[in-house]
Amino acid sequence: MPADSLKPGGIYIHIPFCAARCRYCDFFSTTAFERADAFVDALLREMDLLSARVTGAFDTVYIGGGTPSVLSPGRIARIIGAVFENFRILPGAEVSVEANPDSASAAWLESARRAGVTRVSIGVQSFDNRMLAFLGRIHRAKQAKTAVATARSLEFDSVSLDIMYGMPGQTDDGLCKDLETAISLLPDHLSCYMLSYEKGTPLSRALASHEFAPLPDENCRHFFEKVSRFLVDNGFYHYEISNFAKGRGHVCRHNIKYWERAPYAGLGPSAHSYDGKSERRWNFSDLDSYITTVKEGELPVQSFEKLSVQQRMMEAVYLGFRTSAGVSAESFRSEFGVGFDSLFLPAIEQCNRDGLLERSDSGYTPTLRGMLFHETLALRFTALIP
Ligand code: SF4
Repeated sequence: MPADSLKPGGIYIHIPFCAARCRYCDFFSTTAFERADAFVDALLREMDLLSARVTGAFDTVYIGGGTPSVLSPGRIARIIGAVFENFRILPGAEVSVEANPDSASAAWLESARRAGVTRVSIGVQSFDNRMLAFLGRIHRAKQAKTAVATARSLEFDSVSLDIMYGMPGQTDDGLCKDLETAISLLPDHLSCYMLSYEKGTPLSRALASHEFAPLPDENCRHFFEKVSRFLVDNGFYHYEISNFAKGRGHVCRHNIKYWERAPYAGLGPSAHSYDGKSERRWNFSDLDSYITTVKEGELPVQSFEKLSVQQRMMEAVYLGFRTSAGVSAESFRSEFGVGFDSLFLPAIEQCNRDGLLERSDSGYTPTLRGMLFHETLALRFTALIP
């Protein structure tokens, strides 16, 4: 947490409620809405406890989850108001909120806008109702279009859509239709995620019991490149593996903090915090422990870790190569006192040869292929860290 960091931090708030659980999701959330008031009371108490220990300023706030839009407009306004009361939020801060099409009504979006939200991220996923049903999403394409149009009309600084691809049975045409529909709604930002089968989710269990055949890897790779080319051709800037902005002014400043290892404070169950140097903490991932601990006047921290120099180097490489900015050799040397080129020469040469990496003014950036094979690229570097 940015108690004494010079860089402004970000605040992340995890809203642990969803109207229904999607089949692919492994984030912490519950459908036990009867606990919403107890959660909001605990969250405000957590803000109070944390603010006493934090002196730094924040220039981004991100309310995610879960599904923030399942909370009533009044509850969301109360949460945002408390953020501004408890923490030093800099003028011009980016205040993002996630919303789902089935709950992002005009009244809800208007209230979020009035409360100070500048950026809304809408969980569209697909405009194909069959794909939505496969994913276990409860909204339909029409609701997604209405929610985006409403958000657009309310003049948020940025409207972002989440799109998912790589579902079984998805065709080239199907993907193109989704992308064309998405850009026809004039978003400022798109997060496009390849479907992954996370351990313990209903979807991964269905895959293991052969209820469906996954899309072959080569199709998924082809889709990744197709998404990037299509969006870049349509004026979007591909700034992170899964993220595209209509001009640099629309990059998500909050999410950039994760990849740049800037400080952030996480509130709510399962939220993580990072001090921007070497300590990471995370909150309890169950609502009972979270609420009880906060009620007792303690921060609901389940555990923390101190990162070693090696771990910090690994993160610098792993996270940096997720982004089009890549890794700055100069910043690496100034943080770790080691020459980037001399430490990583074999990996640099091999990745160059394989078309995964390019030299930039200040260091190295992943090519599109390098983003696609990010794990391989990062592993070649991290294997060389002594
Ligand atoms: S994907 Fe989003 S809406 Fe679906 S269960 Fe996960 S957090 Fe909730």
